[in-house]
Amino acid sequence: MFRKDCPQCGNSSFSAAGSGSTWICPYCGLELIKEPLKNTNGSLVKFNSPDKEEQNAS
Ligand SMILES: [Zn+2]
Repeated sequence: MFRKDCPQCGNSSFSAAGSGSTWICPYCGLELIKEPLKNTNGSLVKFNSPDKEEQNAS
């Protein structure tokens, strides 16, 4: 479940699919695809940094 905050009307839009070609605000119809993708708790989702544990086992 992902979230985007609409800069135009201020409402939060939620979607189960974070990666899509479009993300339309259900309240005002603004295209939100360029807005930063967030988790439902408001933290930013970073696609460029996949989860990897720093292992310093040597
Ligand atoms: Zn909106």
